[in-house]
Amino acid sequence: RLPEPSARGGRSRLVVLAGPTAVGKGTVAAHIKEHHPEILLSVSATTRAPRPGEVHGEHYFFVDDAEFDRMVDDGELLEHATVHNASRYGTPRGPIDAALAEGRTVLLEIDLQGARQVRAAAPDATLVFLLPPSWDELVNRLVGRGTEGDEERARRLKTARVELASQGEFDFRVVNDDVARAAAEVAQLAG
Ligand code: 5GP
Repeated sequence: RLPEPSARGGRSRLVVLAGPTAVGKGTVAAHIKEHHPEILLSVSATTRAPRPGEVHGEHYFFVDDAEFDRMVDDGELLEHATVHNASRYGTPRGPIDAALAEGRTVLLEIDLQGARQVRAAAPDATLVFLLPPSWDELVNRLVGRGTEGDEERARRLKTARVELASQGEFDFRVVNDDVARAAAEVAQLAG
């Protein structure tokens, strides 16, 4: 009997979802979490403050700088990076190793620097790049959510241009034209 054909072509069940600011990575990841409970969505550690409604251990592990340093020093993080020149974010290794050992698929929603580190640490990881339908649509989404001031918005768009130019490093590209459709495509790639 031949093994099941897979869109991942022999890649591992560790799947990274990255993409530029405001493309909707978090929304797509949340959709997958809701509709595919068999997939583990990794919970990152971060030094940023919780936003209203965010729960420690569910959305992030909110830690201070000293605790983040300790996690780095003790080798507890698979990757870590300072994102948007502000807070630090990292992926705890333990829950991922445990889930992969059980044969589960693990999804990481992280930034481009993190995606590169995962590729280096786990060359057979599946890297998925989430694209906006167009540049104008990306700008609209960033302006529309209204969470950044003018200066921060300009900085993120500059970063987004550079990040979009890196999409060739990824195994798959998915256009986030519709959250449910894009989430289904990512979940299928993660299969
Ligand atoms: P936010 O603060 O809006 O939740 O996330 C900001 C950015 O941090 C997003 O681009 C998100 O993908 C990225 N991010 C979240 N967790 C991690 C992580 O564990 N590692 C890395 N490298 N980036 C992360």
